[in-house]
Amino acid sequence: MKVHAIQTGFVRIKTAQVEGRGHGWSRRLAIFADPTWTDWLPTYAWAIDCSEGVIVVDTGQGAHLLESGKSLHPYVRWEVAFRIEPEQEIGPQLRALGVGPRDVKRVVLTHLHMDHDGGLAHFPNSEILVAPGELKIASGFAGRMRGYLPHRWPSWFDPAPLRLEARSFGPFAQSRRLTAAGDVIAVATPGHTADHLSIVADDGNTTYFFAGDTSYDERLMLAGKLDGVSADEGVSTATLDAIRNFVQSRPTVYLPTHDPQAAARLAGRQLAGAEV
Ligand SMILES: [Zn+2]
Repeated sequence: MKVHAIQTGFVRIKTAQVEGRGHGWSRRLAIFADPTWTDWLPTYAWAIDCSEGVIVVDTGQGAHLLESGKSLHPYVRWEVAFRIEPEQEIGPQLRALGVGPRDVKRVVLTHLHMDHDGGLAHFPNSEILVAPGELKIASGFAGRMRGYLPHRWPSWFDPAPLRLEARSFGPFAQSRRLTAAGDVIAVATPGHTADHLSIVADDGNTTYFFAGDTSYDERLMLAGKLDGVSADEGVSTATLDAIRNFVQSRPTVYLPTHDPQAAARLAGRQLAGAEV
């Protein structure tokens, strides 16, 4: 197994989104009230070259996100900013790694936020897997009102439903194998969105945990600090507790989408908790 970190540009958000303040609706409003931006954070997608070919986890940003400032949605317009060049989209970067569009058997999305589904257009020939509940809340006009960009999905976008089974995997109550060998598994990590998924890959020595946006970095996960957009704080807390239990039970490299240390951690096989 070989894992590639693919950085699809940068994003910046408000500090109150990275680490939530207050409770309930005031947590969401705190993002709008917060004048302080984060540094430019990376947006990673991942390619897992495994027993069954290449599985891509998330598709990163697309250059269309540079138009986000024109959006009518207040969050998209005011509370997030992107940097990306067309050649930084995932398709050209995979080709540079020698991975062509037909080599990618499957694409699995942790959730459908715009910096995770922005590169879908590069995968017209792949099977694309999305949790049914996530697809439902992201679709149509209601999805746009929630800040998703379904009108930017490719016209052919018709993902296969990734239904998790009531089969526990470590501390995670629901899971589903994505390969016959069981070396790549989807697990339920609700919180950041209600149907958020994470992907676990195991090369026999090390486990890689592709965390999506369950936390914006490893420190926040280890500290059990919730983001500012999770709708249900209890659910998010339980997910972070489960991830922490998981990484402490086996040698795991923790790989959130926007963690500035993620690529270096992957390159050095640095295990979760090793830096604190
Ligand atoms: Zn997100």
